[in-house]
Amino acid sequence: MPQKVRIHPLVSPWGRFGLYSFFIDAPEPAIVDAGIASSPASGMVPELEKLGRSIEDVRWILLTHGHIDHLGGADALWELTGRRAQVVLHDADAHLLRSRRSHVDQYVQVRQQYLNNPNGVEEQTNAANQVISGEMEPTKLVKGGETLSLGGNVSVSVHHIPGHTSGSVAYVVDGQQSVFVGDAVQIHGAANGFPGYEDPAAYRSSLEYLRDEVSPEHLYLGHPYRNSDGEPYGVELDREATRAALKESIDLEARIAGSAQRYFEDGIEETDSVYSPFERVANEVGYTGDPTLEPSPFFTTLNGYWTRFQQR
Ligand SMILES: [Zn+2]
Repeated sequence: MPQKVRIHPLVSPWGRFGLYSFFIDAPEPAIVDAGIASSPASGMVPELEKLGRSIEDVRWILLTHGHIDHLGGADALWELTGRRAQVVLHDADAHLLRSRRSHVDQYVQVRQQYLNNPNGVEEQTNAANQVISGEMEPTKLVKGGETLSLGGNVSVSVHHIPGHTSGSVAYVVDGQQSVFVGDAVQIHGAANGFPGYEDPAAYRSSLEYLRDEVSPEHLYLGHPYRNSDGEPYGVELDREATRAALKESIDLEARIAGSAQRYFEDGIEETDSVYSPFERVANEVGYTGDPTLEPSPFFTTLNGYWTRFQQR
């Protein structure tokens, strides 16, 4: 299916990660995800100039979810548009744009208990202060099911695909099935080499929904996620690569789920391993990366399985 509306990746580097935003060249132009505080001025402005477009013309800032590397640049980008763009975010992740402290709270509630880092809260506080350009109220809250008009005959539909975060959404350019999912399709993870999701059951359902209901012709990812050999997929996938990425994501989730289930039933134990208390799961699925490197998808994900197991 040919694309009528042109889409351009806008990249900004951040530590071990490449952060990808996307420009939708519609009558009312949109940028999907805002990177970190420095991304709009240093990455987006010059890239748009190369395309002969101006950042002031952007009318939509479409945030796929609330993580700092996706919404950190939102306030700065909004200011560059003269505050004329709509800033769109799912209700369930909106607190992460309203408050830097929410990001620290999330660390304290989930990852801190596994990481044994005495400076963790200070580091998270500093990161939130540096990387998030400003706290703001989204100008348009969504829940999934909305259609946004980008002018002319271009529209984008919003689909709720929770799992990576509770407020993750996909934006779909209608008629050409160009689908922006942020971090909702993790494959084998990005720089940390492990898929990160807060709610395993929701993650799986959302992957199946993308495969069966949305059926992308073009899939756009927030980072170059890796396959089972550690090789990165690109961030712009065609239909065939999308099917492969969704299958790899679903298959790996099933392997982790099976391993976690068997282990939890036997009773978890603390060990000296950096993977403790989930060392056995890391061994069974062959994860050899450093689980302490933030944002620590290993502990976020295993905490999700463990929480669900305890709630049975
Ligand atoms: Zn994320």
